[in-house]
Amino acid sequence: MSLGGVLGDVFAELRWDPTLKEWVLVSNIRERRPWQPRNYCPLCPGTEETGYGWDVLIIENKYPMLMECPPEPSRHDFYVTSKAIGKCYVVIETPRHDLDDLSDLSREEIVKVVNAVKDLMFKHVNEGIYEYFLWFRNKGDRIGVSLKHPHSQIYVLSFIPTKVERELMSAKEYWESRGRCLFCDIVKVELRDGVRVIYETGPWVAFLPFYAHWPYEIHIYPKRHVQLLTQLSNQEVSELAEVIKKVLCGLKKLFSEPMPYIMVLHQAPLKGSYDYYHLHIEVYGVFRGDGVLKYAAGMELGGGNFTYDAIPEENARRLKEVISRECLRGM
Ligand code: ZN
Ligand code: ZN
Ligand code: FE
Repeated sequence: MSLGGVLGDVFAELRWDPTLKEWVLVSNIRERRPWQPRNYCPLCPGTEETGYGWDVLIIENKYPMLMECPPEPSRHDFYVTSKAIGKCYVVIETPRHDLDDLSDLSREEIVKVVNAVKDLMFKHVNEGIYEYFLWFRNKGDRIGVSLKHPHSQIYVLSFIPTKVERELMSAKEYWESRGRCLFCDIVKVELRDGVRVIYETGPWVAFLPFYAHWPYEIHIYPKRHVQLLTQLSNQEVSELAEVIKKVLCGLKKLFSEPMPYIMVLHQAPLKGSYDYYHLHIEVYGVFRGDGVLKYAAGMELGGGNFTYDAIPEENARRLKEVISRECLRGM
């Protein structure tokens, strides 16, 4: 892709932070996004990129954070950089611009979304180039989501994201010392205690973890010990769609204003063997009260540890109540 001529010099690279041992994605591509008329939606059917005749459409992000640029003249003798190799996709979850959230889609429509993501992942697994497939969803203009049309994103990365790397290390340590999966044990305890569980179906369980960071943080686990999205059966995908619908509906109805959230799939890396890992979805609902955003501030960003301004068990109870009161109809 040559944007150089059209947009001027686009610059992108990965920069290694040697103090925290993690990558930073650096790019000026967003500054190059052209002005668009107020009511124009690039994700609606019928644009040059989207065309017509689809239920779910995955397109490459036109202004990706990751793109391989011509090599920079070496400016760093001390710092480590890497080419911003990777792919950035936009998952357009429905042709309907008027829907607000993934939870407004029917269960069957959500199944189509998950399967479209799964198909794209198969392609990249077979390619054998990239290290990680990160599927995430940002919801709510209060946390900076500019496009209203229901969509999520996929970053296919040349490295393992830091948070997943940390989970992999813990899971490996636990597996080696106890011979069991850390996440299977967490699921077992959550099902036993029950007080943080907000929704459960045969193959899945959703709960506020004991150690929730965000006010309405929800983790969705398959009860089966499985590592990758591509390993889920059709039955598991179908049930997952229902759990996602319920959980997100709960976040939408809990307060007078729909809760902004971030949703992310944590799964094993694409290459290598990670038998000790267990895929799950994490959702961070960021309101701590009606319309009140919880900020990651001094302690969280400065110190790296979260403060939780409530009791997870009570927030779980509230959410569970809302789901059973407002979200069980029409399923
Ligand atoms: Zn649209
Ligand atoms: Zn497990
Ligand atoms: Fe996780």
